[in-house]
Amino acid sequence: MNIQIIQDRCTGCRACIQLCPVHCISMQENHEGFLFPVVDQEACIDCGICLTKCPAYNDHPLRQDPDLAVYAAVHQNPEILMASSSGGAFAALAQYAFSRDGVVYGCSLNNQIIPMHIRIDQAKDLPKLHGSKYVQSDTGNTYSSVKKDLQASKTVLYSGTPCQIAGLKAYLGADDPNLITVDIICHGVPGSGIFRKHIAWLSKKKGAEIQQFGFRNKEKLGWGPLIYLVTTTTKTTILPYFYDVYCQKLFGDSEGLRECCYQCKYANIDREGDFTIGDYWGIQKYHPEIPTAWGVSLLIANDDKAKAIVNDLHRSLTLYPSRIEWARTNNRLLNKPVERPTERDTVFAEIEKLGYDCWAEKYYRSGYYIKALIKSKIPRSLKTTIKQIIRRNKEG
Ligand SMILES: Cc1cc2nc3c(=O)[nH]c(=O)nc-3n(C[C@H](O)[C@H](O)[C@H](O)COP(=O)(O)OP(=O)(O)OC[C@H]3O[C@@H](n4cnc5c(N)ncnc54)[C@H](O)[C@@H]3O)c2cc1C
Repeated sequence: MNIQIIQDRCTGCRACIQLCPVHCISMQENHEGFLFPVVDQEACIDCGICLTKCPAYNDHPLRQDPDLAVYAAVHQNPEILMASSSGGAFAALAQYAFSRDGVVYGCSLNNQIIPMHIRIDQAKDLPKLHGSKYVQSDTGNTYSSVKKDLQASKTVLYSGTPCQIAGLKAYLGADDPNLITVDIICHGVPGSGIFRKHIAWLSKKKGAEIQQFGFRNKEKLGWGPLIYLVTTTTKTTILPYFYDVYCQKLFGDSEGLRECCYQCKYANIDREGDFTIGDYWGIQKYHPEIPTAWGVSLLIANDDKAKAIVNDLHRSLTLYPSRIEWARTNNRLLNKPVERPTERDTVFAEIEKLGYDCWAEKYYRSGYYIKALIKSKIPRSLKTTIKQIIRRNKEG
């Protein structure tokens, strides 16, 4: 079977690998550091399951007239809120699953600081899943593991990017009342291959092996900016946002995202998950009553299953009913995919030519960094005042 025909639309979800009856598909990293399925043509029996089930190859079935329940949400436990990138909606959903003796799947960084989807069955392991990792996560064999859990009648909460949820649903083929799916609003992902090189470069800069890494530490500047928390064998450092070129160019400026991200089918309000979670950007304008310093989640219940669960979330989340038009105003990814910058054509060739370390040094502490550094010196209260003045001026 020639699954290469889906080419740039392939999201790397791994549904095909786990569906293949003769196990003739494997994942291989391409020169840009993204995992793609490759078929062993000699072993392939041409059954076509890989393509007939592939969510990238097939159309994304649209929900008719979606009736969404939209909330701003803040976790009531300050430690969990601090560890979460947004307002901790994910943690509350995971706690709900554990309260039903269920299991939770989500993205965690492994010992080599590479994002992988894992399964946890105890609330004490929740910190492994906390926080956004701005790199594509490898779903491994989690879809088949979910199937086993569902066959054992367990409540399963599976979280990931919408394309990963689409892959899971394609793999399972039918909904299960015990399955709760949570998709994150997603800007797009750089590949784990390039991130591995980034971590190696950062280790050299720090002069010690990196043991832990966080993308959005809230300790210094609260909710919002990307702030690295880097723990090496010798010390822990908080690095300012736009510190380096991975963050600036590959992720932030979208130059190094997977090709499918620029044509993402899910960057709208017709979602794959029962729930959609993200940052509630622009919240101050619509909900001035909500404290925002440590993060606010946007939580969308996309279907009846999710709406029924929301009532149980009150135990851990403070929920504020909101409106989808407001949420969409400042969250571009609920309207359309990120634009493909022209630099996407050349960035990987430049990295290949210079080698990652030289390329990273070339842009390290560039204009972005200086601007961001100045911004980071302005106290939060002054920033809020400036933003309010700008907003008032805009509104007339
Ligand atoms: C690559 C990426 C891009 C994003 N872009 C946007 C955006 O443009 N706008 C927006 O509003 N929100 C975006 N988010 C979502 C946001 O950053 C938070 O992840 C989300 O709001 C959940 O926050 P939380 O406080 O509820 O939980 P947290 O504890 O912060 O998040 C944990 C959840 O994120 C999942 N997760 C973390 N990293 C990954 C990953 N690499 N792949 C799949 N799942 C992952 C975990 O499985 C878990 O469900 C993005 C997240 C990622 C990973």
